[in-house]
Amino acid sequence: KLHHELPRRIHRFHERLAQAGRERMDRILMLRSAVHNRELYLEYQPKVMLESRRLIGAEALLRWKPDGATLLPPSVFIPLAEETGIIHQLGQLVLEMVCAQIAAWQNTGYEPPPIAVNVSPLQLGEFEFEAQFLATLRDFGIHPAQIVVEITETAFLHERTHSMQVLQQLQQAGVAIHLDDFGTGYSSFSYLSDLPLDCVKIDKSFLDRCTPQLPEPPAPHRPVNHRTILEGIVTLARGLHLDIIAEGVETPEQAAMLLELGCLQAQGYYFYRPMSPEQLAPHLSTS
Ligand code: C2E
Ligand code: MG
Ligand code: MG
Ligand code: MG
Repeated sequence: KLHHELPRRIHRFHERLAQAGRERMDRILMLRSAVHNRELYLEYQPKVMLESRRLIGAEALLRWKPDGATLLPPSVFIPLAEETGIIHQLGQLVLEMVCAQIAAWQNTGYEPPPIAVNVSPLQLGEFEFEAQFLATLRDFGIHPAQIVVEITETAFLHERTHSMQVLQQLQQAGVAIHLDDFGTGYSSFSYLSDLPLDCVKIDKSFLDRCTPQLPEPPAPHRPVNHRTILEGIVTLARGLHLDIIAEGVETPEQAAMLLELGCLQAQGYYFYRPMSPEQLAPHLSTS
């Protein structure tokens, strides 16, 4: 029986592979045209002081709702954009949208806090990225202190020296640099001090490990006390004169623990979800 089944199975496998390839190709073409036609938009998620809940910033998060389809999460289309090189055009588009939005808020009497844009490590490899970035701000009349760059540690895995130089120049121009998703991967305490950083963002997954919803299963090895590690990160960041913010704060328990450990800033559903610029406006101070 198997003898007869095998060729058919192989055939079906090839069919599925071809199908997946077609879907991927469709998506790439759609993303390309979405960037071209500017069918993407941004939501903004506030960052707050934990204790007073005062708004201290907001992160711009990209959204894409292909025609007729449901919202595709950035965790799907950003990697696609990176694999295909679309990210360069897309990254520039995001920066322009953020600048235009800040200008629009200001023109209607609001004083937005610094707005963070996520920058793909690949963008740092663009020819004179920092010059182009700053030129865009100038074009829109946006002061560098109004913009924050969020970058992940992967930016320093390869081309480390170059990445550092690019970010250093942005930082010197007044753009704050925040290290995104800290605690997820290659995090090394020792090199934090070398990087041109203003703030470290503790990743949500790290926070979740500190406050497990369920009792942890018996560990085969000595259990890691993530809370102690978090305390260490906070102390280290302090020592390096870096700000520290926790992302993905969802519960009052997490907020309380962070305050106890000396982490004073947060971002997460417990405070605000990502929202449209119109929804954010009433939370902004007015000039
Ligand atoms: P990120 O930069 O770490 O952004 C934080 C993500 O956590 C966002 O997901 C946000 O909606 C989500 N989040 C915030 N608070 C909570 C919470 O309390 N609970 C939970 N479960 N989630 C929370 P989002 O918008 O889906 O973005 C995912 C990732 O996609 C971002 O992670 C960032 O790496 C990337 N991304 C988003 N926009 C851009 C962009 O314009 N450019 C680039 N290069 N990457 C982007
Ligand atoms: Mg981010
Ligand atoms: Mg993050
Ligand atoms: Mg994250």
